[in-house]
Amino acid sequence: MDYQKLAHLLFPDVTLTREEAEAQFPKRDLPEGACVTRIGPSPTGFIHLGNLYNAIIAERLAHQSKGVFYLRIEDTDTKREVPGAVETIINSMAYFSVYFDEGATINGDKGAYGPYRQRQRKNIYHVFAKWLVEQGMAYPCFCTAEELNAVREQQQANKELTGYYGKYAIWRDKSLEEIQAAIAAGMPYVLRFRAAETEGEYFQVNDAIRGTLSMPVNNMDFVLLKSDGIPTYHFAHCIDDHLMQSTYIIRGEEWIASLPMHVALFQAMGWPEPVYCHTATLMKIDTTTDENGETKQIKRKLSKRKDPELALAYYQQQGICQDAVWEFLLTLLNSNYEEWRIANPTASYLEFPYSIEKMSNSGALVDLEKLDNISKEVICKMPAEEVYEKWTAWCERYAPDFYALATANKEKTIAALNVGKGGKKPRKDLVNWKQACEFLSFYYDETFQVADEMPAEVDAETRLAFFQRYLDSYDHAADSAAWFAKVKEISSELGFAVKPKDYKKNPTAYKGSIVHTTNMLRIALTGHANAPDIWEVSHVLGEATVRERIAKVMEA
Ligand code: GLU
Repeated sequence: MDYQKLAHLLFPDVTLTREEAEAQFPKRDLPEGACVTRIGPSPTGFIHLGNLYNAIIAERLAHQSKGVFYLRIEDTDTKREVPGAVETIINSMAYFSVYFDEGATINGDKGAYGPYRQRQRKNIYHVFAKWLVEQGMAYPCFCTAEELNAVREQQQANKELTGYYGKYAIWRDKSLEEIQAAIAAGMPYVLRFRAAETEGEYFQVNDAIRGTLSMPVNNMDFVLLKSDGIPTYHFAHCIDDHLMQSTYIIRGEEWIASLPMHVALFQAMGWPEPVYCHTATLMKIDTTTDENGETKQIKRKLSKRKDPELALAYYQQQGICQDAVWEFLLTLLNSNYEEWRIANPTASYLEFPYSIEKMSNSGALVDLEKLDNISKEVICKMPAEEVYEKWTAWCERYAPDFYALATANKEKTIAALNVGKGGKKPRKDLVNWKQACEFLSFYYDETFQVADEMPAEVDAETRLAFFQRYLDSYDHAADSAAWFAKVKEISSELGFAVKPKDYKKNPTAYKGSIVHTTNMLRIALTGHANAPDIWEVSHVLGEATVRERIAKVMEA
């Protein structure tokens, strides 16, 4: 077979040589040990927590080593592409504060190694595909889907390995004349890799997370270019990651099975392989009921259909603070993260020395309760002004009514966010931005509602008497201690126990305890029995509102 002729027949328009194409991607000028990493999401419209998990590893490896982190859009599967999905990828990563040095952006590409969208790189792939044909390492295959199905059925019936290989590789040894005739007849074809004819041979490959893997040598004549000339993931991965000089490939463990193909391709091209890091699948604990009606807990993969928390959109819609999501994923990524956080309570999570060696390869457990706890801590430590900025930024998109309220009352809102922040045990009232809307709603007259019932133990007459005395003696200028002394005084005068334990011991001797009177005040002012410090809240609301709200519950 004259491979030069075949290459020219298949790629008459490709004039660039392999060397010329490679020269368009000059060696990166980076410090010793710098890592070049990327994420390569496909624009399917569904971007999930696993994408962010891998993005964080890649971002940390690159930026900790003064390397480069880039975004490549892997849009070779046109059937799965959804309009607007590229924007969703870019915006979601920005929402979670994942910043790229290079790659696809909303306004085109940024960086010298582009295009960063695979379909725009078609000409580049063809240069290397042509070179493989010239070497006899790739050939066209004109099999129809029906023919391939028939082969698979036969293989299944014979209990043989399914696929296009060995004696089943029908077009592998066809003559140039046969190929010319098929092309002349207008038959569509794919370009296949000519695999080594091996059986039962193994090779070893190192995975930075999993250690040395022993895998069968590839014997499949897999597809490099589809019939429309667009590459498969396998071919595009090899060409792009070589030309863009990725040093680490961080991707999900579902790609491990394809590793023999990728290694075979790198070897065929004569290029060194990057370091592979296959990350563990995200899991959750689920409760199921077996046939005997007994419930048991199982660990299972997060599913797109069953678990809304798999979608990154979920975290955006719930308004889970970006920093909390990072901290949460870092605790999953490195087992020593929590220990580090305790030792460095005020440091940015970006200061944590992330290490790929400390990663576990068993499924990472996504526990939303844990995320909430991390989130409470993160927001609790954040200065009120920063909480204001982040909360309102979220509201602008997801809760416009609150955006309007908060921005029209900026000073009051920041004061509200400062309530309970000081002291040894700062309050952890805010869990996420959506819940923050609910929680903060009592500060605004427009959204204030008395949600809780007044304590049933206190009769209506006593309650009114208490509120009346409170209003009569209310001094907005009093400090917290003087204010509380006054509440105690009124409570006691009306027959409430000032010490809750006195009431507990002898309930019939009292009208109730200080817990009841302060709860009544809390409900009147905030709508809830469980609310922050009354004195602090009163100073955010202002005297007029305090008086108004108490007068209002007295009417009810
Ligand atoms: N496009 C691939 C995916 O979405 C990317 C895998 C990789 O990072 O190499 O799974």
